[in-house]
Amino acid sequence: MNDRNIKILGFLLGALIFIATCTLPTQYRLEFVYSLIVLLTIWIPGNRSTFDSSVVMTALILIAYFINHQFEFQTEAVPTFVYPIFFVWAFTFAIIKYKASQENLIKSTENLNAMFLNATEGIIISNSKGIIVMANPRSCEQFGYEYGDLPGKKIEDLVPRRFSAGHPQHRSKFYSEVHNRSMGKGMNLYALRSDGSEFPVEISLSSFRNKSELFIISFIIDITERKLQEDLIARAQEDLEKRVIERTKASEEANTSLEKANKSISAEMQERRIMEEALRDSERLYSTIARNFPDGIICVVDRQLKIVFIDGKELENLGWKRDHLAGKRLSTIELFLLSEELEKKLISVFGWASTHFELPHQDDTYVVNAVPLPDTKGFIKEILLVIQNVTELKNAEIEIRTSLEKEKELNEMKSKFVSIASHEFRTPLSTILTSVSLIAKYEKTDDLDKRNRHIDRIRSSVKNLTEILNDFLSLEKLEAGKTDVHLAPLNFVEFIEELCEEMQAVSKSGQLIKLKHEGKNMIDGDKQLMRHIMINLVNNAIKYSPEGAEISIYLCVDENITIKVADQGIGIPEADQPHLFDRFFRAGNVTAIQGTGLGLNIVKRYVELMKGTITFESSVEKGTTFIIILPH
Ligand code: ADP
Repeated sequence: MNDRNIKILGFLLGALIFIATCTLPTQYRLEFVYSLIVLLTIWIPGNRSTFDSSVVMTALILIAYFINHQFEFQTEAVPTFVYPIFFVWAFTFAIIKYKASQENLIKSTENLNAMFLNATEGIIISNSKGIIVMANPRSCEQFGYEYGDLPGKKIEDLVPRRFSAGHPQHRSKFYSEVHNRSMGKGMNLYALRSDGSEFPVEISLSSFRNKSELFIISFIIDITERKLQEDLIARAQEDLEKRVIERTKASEEANTSLEKANKSISAEMQERRIMEEALRDSERLYSTIARNFPDGIICVVDRQLKIVFIDGKELENLGWKRDHLAGKRLSTIELFLLSEELEKKLISVFGWASTHFELPHQDDTYVVNAVPLPDTKGFIKEILLVIQNVTELKNAEIEIRTSLEKEKELNEMKSKFVSIASHEFRTPLSTILTSVSLIAKYEKTDDLDKRNRHIDRIRSSVKNLTEILNDFLSLEKLEAGKTDVHLAPLNFVEFIEELCEEMQAVSKSGQLIKLKHEGKNMIDGDKQLMRHIMINLVNNAIKYSPEGAEISIYLCVDENITIKVADQGIGIPEADQPHLFDRFFRAGNVTAIQGTGLGLNIVKRYVELMKGTITFESSVEKGTTFIIILPH
């Protein structure tokens, strides 16, 4: 019967009782039946319907009372409605209490059910004979059964065959001393699935009695995952232990090799100490060598041409301190004010080239030799410069070269002299010989003229020979550096006038020597050198001019002494002019005229000794003018 039907039944019963109480005589006490209507609400959930029906019944009891007593309150009739009402409310109270207890029971049963059905552990309840009476879904799942298949089976059906024989014994032992405990402590427990496979489990046992029958509750946890993890951990631990052993072994080996290494290191250190000492010794040796390096400097520079090391005797001579120079760039040091080209040369040494160059410094000359200084790995980070003062060597070399040159010149001169002597001496000597033999034949007085002519010829030839010999002597004196200038006051004009007269006597027929003079008469001069110069120039003018030609001499003494000797002779070919003052040089147009090519060379050197200059102007067949300017 549903709630609605119960309510309709209650209503009908209520109406029926009300009509009966109102119509039947009062001795029929039907009010108590109202309590039965309230009792009907026991099947309707909730307290509301019970309470409402009680109120309605109470109202009906009171209404029936007043109807039965004509709406008059009679004190003696009070029990007729009080007792029924009391009964109605007593029932109400009892029903409400009952309902509350029932609800609690349902709730706890539901909770238990929910726990049983949804438990993540398998729960199996078995009786004292080992028959399964209840098994939750999780346990069925664990053992591979459909839900509901396990009840009725024996517990031993869930135990692997190898253990199932001894299991009833364990079970009866547990029953004899029941208490809550975990099963098979310290043992590996296995359970049997429906398909015959096994899985590891952990089981807790507890018990309860129902109507004197003993039931066992088994809580089963599938520990396959945990076992796997434990296995993994065990394997990892095993692995770890293995590794620890290996590591220990390795570290022992390492220790041994470390010990060995230590020993070899100490041996190496000993060796190194010896090497260091040897190195220090060789360093001392090298620095002593460097310090005492005579007339030079030993220097090591890096890639920036900065001084890494410098020493040598020459540093003292230059007044330099090596400590001040270390770390400086070469180009900042006075001696090494290197040109860009020389810096490049030094930089090229870092590319395995070696170089050397001269370095002038004040009056001295230094030679720099640069070589690469590779390190143990073959990299050139530094180069070595050996700088030597070669001034003395250089001077000696120059001296040797000069004396060699002189020697060579002297030899040349001697051989030239021999050839000139053999050539130039032959004519005057043969002239002398002829004249002498002719003179011997002219014995008569009438032959006096002829004899005199020959005597003049002899005189002239001897003069020629003397001049040649004088020239050689002058040259030799000049070469030997024995020619000195002796200045003394000299009436220059008078001196030249006398010389002109002298020269006029030896001039060709018709030649006239003219003298023109300007300025002062007196000079400070070397009479002998001046005489040699003038005789040579005038002699050449006579020699290279035809008969009857004019020779003019111009003198001017002011701030300087100017001497010009001009002729109207054969002139000097332009091509020969640059070599005119060279020793033994003779122009191409004078081959027929006697000469040695020494005169002008000597003149130039005399002029230069007197700090003067000599130049000339000449054109062929027109004449030549020599110009000498001497300081006054
Ligand atoms: P030399 O007269 O003995 O040959 P010099 O040294 O005096 O030697 O002269 C060198 C050369 O200069 C001569 O050979 C000649 O060719 C040329 N020379 C010198 N003076 C004159 C001059 N006045 N006129 C033309 N040529 C001259």
